[in-house]
Amino acid sequence: MKNLIDKLYKNNYLDFDEIVYILNHIENQGKDYLIEKAHETRMKTYGNKVYMRGLIEFSNYCTKGCKYCGINSFNKNVERYRLSLEEIQECSELGYSLGYRTFVLQGGEDNYYSDDMIVEIIKEIKNKYKDVAVTLSLGEKPYESYEKYYNAGADRYLLRHETASKELFEKIHINTDYNNRIESLWNLKKIGYQVGAGFMVGIPTQTKEDLAKDLLFLKELDPEMVGIGPFIPHKDTIYKNQQGGTLEDTITMIALTRLFLPHGLLPATTALGTIDPLGREKGIKAGANVVMPNLSPTTVREKYSLYNGKICTGDEAAECRNCIEKRIVSSGFSIDMSRGDNIKWRQNND
Ligand code: SAH
Repeated sequence: MKNLIDKLYKNNYLDFDEIVYILNHIENQGKDYLIEKAHETRMKTYGNKVYMRGLIEFSNYCTKGCKYCGINSFNKNVERYRLSLEEIQECSELGYSLGYRTFVLQGGEDNYYSDDMIVEIIKEIKNKYKDVAVTLSLGEKPYESYEKYYNAGADRYLLRHETASKELFEKIHINTDYNNRIESLWNLKKIGYQVGAGFMVGIPTQTKEDLAKDLLFLKELDPEMVGIGPFIPHKDTIYKNQQGGTLEDTITMIALTRLFLPHGLLPATTALGTIDPLGREKGIKAGANVVMPNLSPTTVREKYSLYNGKICTGDEAAECRNCIEKRIVSSGFSIDMSRGDNIKWRQNND
């Protein structure tokens, strides 16, 4: 085990069988060693910095049928909401005054917001603040739409691949095509975005082999960011009685991802903080280096319910910042409020 982890630390690569071996055999001691190596790797690339992003969840309307997701189009129990362009600007103003220099606009796949509207939102933020990065997370769109947003000034795009197993992907989605998802990620790269892929850990029936595929897919795509979180059942979905992903498995996957992609920006996700009160701190210690506190108005927070028990739904944005900052600092890391671009991407694009 130690030899394999050393090999991964040195080469930032292992083959499929080696990854599966690690996932099947790693025990406590091996996990500690893996986390130590992941931590060392992040110290070499980003040091002890943790980057902050302000998240604006602007719509929970969605046309998609992702079976695990609480805001999927079949769920009649969600109260749907949309933020107006003015409300979105207010969130960004509040965020800017709190020191945030990246805004993540996330929503369901909601056709109410035309490309022109999205372009207007991006332009307004980018014109107002010269030192801000705009990250979009709007799901799958045609190439031309991605291109319009990029030309309007969007810097980054988050689109998790969810799982790199085509078979599992097709099992957990209704009207979403695996090939289109993967093609969308390549399109985003081609256009010039800093791209965020990512996956869930502990999806019903997901195997170690499936998780090995995730790591190999990431190595091939080489995204600038990778969001990894545990699957958490949502009460209004068909997976409501299924087991969720565990803290341990998610931490292992974060640490492995850090070793595969030393320059990646890896969030300690809200989902990780939901399954364990110290989940995000543990994620950071295992190589994660981004947190995304919520800037959405507290009145809509509970409605953006992707999974059960989502944390921080009642905190004002300022409280969120203070709370997460204290947690990070007391874990021995430091807060970085700058744009926080991926350093490898910066080197290649300056
Ligand atoms: N519509 C956008 C944003 C999706 S929400 C898109 O398609 O990219 C952001 C992420 O939440 C998803 O990519 C998914 O990985 C995660 N998510 C959704 N439901 C979840 C659940 N039940 N448990 C854990 N994560 C979930």
